[in-house]
Amino acid sequence: MQHSYQNCKFVNTPSSINMVKKVLILIFIILTISFFIPQQSHSWGFFAHKRINRMAVFTLPPGMIGFYKKHIEFITEHAVDPDKRRYAVEDEAPKHFIDIDRYAKDGEDPFKNMPRKWKDAVAKFTEDTLKAHGIVPWWIETMVKRLTEAFRNEDLDRILRYSADLGHYIGDAHVPLHTTENYNGQLTNQKGIHGFWESRLPELFAEDYDYWTGRAKYIEHPLDYAWDRVQESFSAKDSVLLLEAQLNAVFPSDKKYSYENRGAAMMRVYSYEYSLEYNKLMSGMVERRMRSAIIGIGSLWYTAWINAGQPDLSRLDNKEISEQLRKEQEEEDKMWKTGIIKNSKGHED
Ligand SMILES: [Zn+2]
Repeated sequence: MQHSYQNCKFVNTPSSINMVKKVLILIFIILTISFFIPQQSHSWGFFAHKRINRMAVFTLPPGMIGFYKKHIEFITEHAVDPDKRRYAVEDEAPKHFIDIDRYAKDGEDPFKNMPRKWKDAVAKFTEDTLKAHGIVPWWIETMVKRLTEAFRNEDLDRILRYSADLGHYIGDAHVPLHTTENYNGQLTNQKGIHGFWESRLPELFAEDYDYWTGRAKYIEHPLDYAWDRVQESFSAKDSVLLLEAQLNAVFPSDKKYSYENRGAAMMRVYSYEYSLEYNKLMSGMVERRMRSAIIGIGSLWYTAWINAGQPDLSRLDNKEISEQLRKEQEEEDKMWKTGIIKNSKGHED
């Protein structure tokens, strides 16, 4: 005989009690597992990187903006390629950060110890050491040179790819926790703060940010420009860490996290209330760093174009991205989805 729905639901037969127990155990297991799944975090979070690259297009002068607007979807979508590439390409990871505090003892200014030029830095610390602790400022300079070359050759594939990539690395240099060995609060019992600052806060509050930064400017010395941004990021990292620690000390611990459905998985996230309080303590820092990244990206794209002799980009109007580039990017995407990290050195996100 078939049980009616009501019979199953309301009569406390031994089998229905068993069922309830099983369901409760299952819920407990799911919650426990999701508690230990680290929050997915990428540099600036995919959301913020895309927003930053996209907004940078609007800083460009008349000779460039038409071209970039035409390809704005590419520039936006591929803002996160370098993070995906970390899964496919060895040596990619150190390009996203620099743990500058590795170069100073307590109280010392690490920037005084670190020569800004790559050759001088290699001579002082060796290439292996530099790569182990991150190379983002030098990599920005390299990418500006590559983009300049791509403009000179009027090579559509490379102009687009290097523009998107350069945007990513400049974005990373603006994140305070990309400049310290305590990049995820792991040394101060604040694990998860990396994704909290650069992913969770923008995802919750970036709609209210003001992205109008004015026109891109010519940058005389891209390497110094990159270093200056890293220095600003580093000087903000204490606030990022200390203010979270202070908030954590006074905020009810049972309200610090909540659970959200992310695709198929339940993820533990910093609760909205906790995020709101932290965002207040940051007093606009996330917005300021995003704005600085936007104008920085526009300015370095512009600089590369000027240095290449201001090629007429309308000559590329009828060209499309090559099949080869499309395939390369699909391949990287696949590698990323399989999640095999070839290079596990350095920041893991
Ligand atoms: Zn990155």
